[in-house]
Amino acid sequence: MAMKLTYTGVSVIVDVERPLAGYLDSKNLHYAARDVEDQIKRHCDGIDSTEILFRTEKTCEYCGSNWTEDGDIYNGGCCRRVLW
Ligand SMILES: [Zn+2]
Repeated sequence: MAMKLTYTGVSVIVDVERPLAGYLDSKNLHYAARDVEDQIKRHCDGIDSTEILFRTEKTCEYCGSNWTEDGDIYNGGCCRRVLW
């Protein structure tokens, strides 16, 4: 018996221009994404639905290191800054 691969759907992900994503706060970035979504629906045929996915990264607010822990207070000692 061999594996059968059936395509059940396809999505196209659109990246928003870097300056837009880099300079807006989270609230305005959501508005901007909705605006891009509306423009795509208005100008493109064959769209059944759209979905907005935000890619994020977690970093230490003090030293900028990648956040490696599950909690949001302690990051494995990446810097000596104490929050309490
Ligand atoms: Zn740190």
